[in-house]
Amino acid sequence: MSTEQSHQGDQDKQLLAAVDQINLADDFQGALVALATEAGRLLACDGTSVMWLNGDELEVLANHGELAPLSGLSLPVSQVGAARTALDGNRPAVVSDTVEDLHWRCIPGEERVRAWLGVPLLLGDRAIGLLEWTAREPGQFGDDAVERAAILTRYAAPILYRTQLLDDSRRHLRELLQPRQAKPAQTQDMGAALRKVTREALDSTGAEHAFTFLKEEEGLRLRCVAAAGPQHQELRKVILRSDGSFGGLAAARSTDRGGAGPADGEVMAALGITNALILPLRAGKEQVGMIGVAGPRGGRSFDQGTIRLMTHLASQASLIVERARQSKTASDGYDYEAVFQSSPLGLCVLTITGDIQACNPALAGLLSRADRNLAGHNLSDFLASGDWQRLVRALEEVAFSGQRQQVDTRIQSAQGEQRHVRLTLAPAPSLAGPPRKAQVAGQRQGEMGATLVAVLEDITSLKILEQERVEHLRELREKHQQLQDLDQLRTRFVSNVSHELRTPLAVIKLYATLARKGRPEKQTFYLQTIEQETHRLETMVENILDLTRIDRQTLRLHPESLAAEEIIAQVLGVYQETAEKHGIELTNHVQGNLPRLLADKNDLIQMLTNLVDNALKYTPRGGQVWVAAREIGTIGQASQTGQTAGDQGSGGRPMLEIAVGDTGAGIADDEQEHIFERFYRGRNNTPERSGTGLGLAIVQELMAHHGGRVILKSQVGRGSIFILQFPLAQPIDTSPSPE
Ligand code: ADP
Repeated sequence: MSTEQSHQGDQDKQLLAAVDQINLADDFQGALVALATEAGRLLACDGTSVMWLNGDELEVLANHGELAPLSGLSLPVSQVGAARTALDGNRPAVVSDTVEDLHWRCIPGEERVRAWLGVPLLLGDRAIGLLEWTAREPGQFGDDAVERAAILTRYAAPILYRTQLLDDSRRHLRELLQPRQAKPAQTQDMGAALRKVTREALDSTGAEHAFTFLKEEEGLRLRCVAAAGPQHQELRKVILRSDGSFGGLAAARSTDRGGAGPADGEVMAALGITNALILPLRAGKEQVGMIGVAGPRGGRSFDQGTIRLMTHLASQASLIVERARQSKTASDGYDYEAVFQSSPLGLCVLTITGDIQACNPALAGLLSRADRNLAGHNLSDFLASGDWQRLVRALEEVAFSGQRQQVDTRIQSAQGEQRHVRLTLAPAPSLAGPPRKAQVAGQRQGEMGATLVAVLEDITSLKILEQERVEHLRELREKHQQLQDLDQLRTRFVSNVSHELRTPLAVIKLYATLARKGRPEKQTFYLQTIEQETHRLETMVENILDLTRIDRQTLRLHPESLAAEEIIAQVLGVYQETAEKHGIELTNHVQGNLPRLLADKNDLIQMLTNLVDNALKYTPRGGQVWVAAREIGTIGQASQTGQTAGDQGSGGRPMLEIAVGDTGAGIADDEQEHIFERFYRGRNNTPERSGTGLGLAIVQELMAHHGGRVILKSQVGRGSIFILQFPLAQPIDTSPSPE
């Protein structure tokens, strides 16, 4: 084996070992460091760095050796050696001697670098970054070195990419598993990072002061956020106007890569500074502050190396501010915790079994719990009994289907008060993890230990309104039905009335003709009939008017003290002749004086007339009709088994009962409750028994107006008794009642 061959073999081994080392790293950062280190070992050089391509910028992610840019820097591609050539051509680029390279001279602060080698990190033909070697000796990187560098990057690039992907996946997974873990405060992070950069500025430039100022939100002032040096405490307190002060001037000059600005008179004088190098900090296109170093009076001015260093530090600080801003907009755009806490709706996070994991104050308020933190309770603790099963079903449904559900339920406060709540249940994917499609087919979300979000809304007043609405609707329906019934009644009324009126009118017309043309000896009979029918007609019209009056509640009683026996005798007197004509025995059983009655005389006459008229009408020839009256001490003595109509509230007060009885057709049991209805006419009617079905309705209405009631006792084929019960104004002495 020749020396050359063995040398080649060693180099191959070295390459292999380098790739192995990088491959051993189990995360991106580790792989980066390994690559920078191995690259440094592979070629004779003074510095290496691994840079990541980010748009048109190269970000230094790892470095090794003395002659390397600082980690964290973001540099325009054009400012990194011959990076542009390397990246555009997807091949290594070499600068043998920077002194001879025109482009290189435009990059300040790189005087120590004399030789440069850059190899793009390629994934296929896509560049993802650049591996850079620097050396103090010109011509350091020959063909051999370039070749070996190319081999290393070819193998290293996919390894880096793989570890980066792995890291990304790990981070995502961590975020999913611990989503509620408080993120480190970005501002704190930023402050610490800026302090580090400021300290580095002081240490690496040898200046006396180093400081970083950031614009306040309104952009009118610059506040010192980091300072280093003997007077860092004084500096930290400084707030500068952003116009006219040295910070402001730096901002105005931000285009010229930040030269030294004149010192602000007061601040500089107070600190004894005459020399300052200030560079602007940028986030995107916006200038957000400045970083600077300052020297003592009479100190040396800042050389190119310091300017170069400070340029790097300024871009590092800019990056820090920009990242902090980005993550603030991305994650803290809304303070979700604050929203959760201050929401007027009750909010809680539940397990599928209803265990409360977190809740907001509004929920505790809704449940009237003094304990603001209900975590650890189960929602069932607060539900009204009987409502839990429904909620369990809804919880399961939501967990398994992933669909939202709404349940109206009742909760019980600590004081026992019940309130209606509307529960909107939704799956909480961000807490339980997003639906994992890669999971075993058929496995559903609920089986992954689902977490749900519940929104509770107090709908008690809504429920009350709803109940009122239902009640109102029911009343309206009832009223509507009543109106319909009334309408039907009216229609029947009109047809009945016109029919009934027609009968006596026809009789009157006929007998009037007979009176004119008939036999003279029958004149009296004709006229009597006309008189009788006119009277009937009159009664009927009166009946109708009475009912109309009662309907309109315009009936005004004219009560007077009456001797009932006199009225009874009077009415029976009128009907005596009719009774005889029909072969019916009409008897008055009232004997002696009855207690005086306070009633409307016309009404009493009308009621008795209606009843006696009916009794005669529904009693066949040979039958009997009678009237009796008596005082009773308590109501019900005569009416325990009878059908009652009218006022029920006479209690045990003294009463006067007037009964009209007959031995006529009687009324069937199933009809007894109907015969007091208007226009109701019973089955016992025959064509000869004319009527309107209004008589008993009038009796019942009038009795009600007199504070009394009507009682009916009847048996088909045996007869009927209608009893009028009038309350008496004063207690009465017991005296024999007539039968
Ligand atoms: P009408 O004009 O039909 O007599 P009412 O209101 O006076 O109207 O009576 C209603 C119904 O009650 C009658 O149609 C009849 O069927 C029944 N009725 C009333 N009084 C008697 C009675 N004394 N005997 C039997 N049935 C009666």
